[in-house]
Amino acid sequence: MGKVYIVGAGPGDVELITLKGLRCIKEADVILYDRLINRELLSYAKPNAQLIFCGKLPNRHAMIQEHINHSLVQYAKQGKVVTRLKGGDPFVFGRGAEEAEVLAENHIPYEIVPGITAGIAAPAYAGIPVTHRDFGSSFAIVTGHMKEGKDDSIKWESLANGVDTLAIYMGVGNLPYICQNLLKYGRSATTPVALVYMGTFEEQQTVTGTLVTIVEIAQETQVKNPSIIIVGEVVSLREKIQWFEQKKEALDLLKESVV
Ligand code: SAH
Repeated sequence: MGKVYIVGAGPGDVELITLKGLRCIKEADVILYDRLINRELLSYAKPNAQLIFCGKLPNRHAMIQEHINHSLVQYAKQGKVVTRLKGGDPFVFGRGAEEAEVLAENHIPYEIVPGITAGIAAPAYAGIPVTHRDFGSSFAIVTGHMKEGKDDSIKWESLANGVDTLAIYMGVGNLPYICQNLLKYGRSATTPVALVYMGTFEEQQTVTGTLVTIVEIAQETQVKNPSIIIVGEVVSLREKIQWFEQKKEALDLLKESVV
């Protein structure tokens, strides 16, 4: 009998994986990896490891979930060390728990290796702490992948009034609906909002506005996925402590001046 490691690859920057996660990549006979991971991580795999891509675009999985579950069980039964590599943390909107359930049902040995989730890392690289003694003492991780009028089980009223900082995943397509709801339930119109695209990757870009202005700003700047939406007063700290994009800009300028 083999073993399955369900591993969080971290948000993008290749160095943000854990030592344990990296060891699981190095030891794996088979790696099943998702779309959002940094592909550079695969260069640490054994030369003869089998690398299987498991996801194309959201809602259009290259391998449907059931097929992935089945593969994990089958490879482990063949005695292989299997690493299931997922973006960020496997238990934060990552279906890692569903896969663990299937492994448990099939009596396959497995371990969960947490990773740094995008909802904390992307804002950190944008100079936005998710908590701060003066600006935010509570923080919620929220899915923005809901349909207006339909399966929206989000407790907007509690989120609008009861939580200081919101990190909203998969929400770019629903940004107008998200802002409308927060405003409707009493969040101040001047609440700062940031969208962080490709957080911690070289391509990272951040735009900021308020609950009232951000929809238009996002349209103008054509913010795409994957992006995290951060809502709350903590966003204002970016003015003072942004570091990553500044560092990149300085490097780009330096490159230009050398050319
Ligand atoms: N398990 C992942 C989340 C998967 S859901 C984690 O813990 O981070 C996919 C959503 O995560 C995307 O739609 C986007 O909202 C967010 N996301 C993942 N990687 C991101 C990144 N590098 N920058 C910004 N958002 C990211």
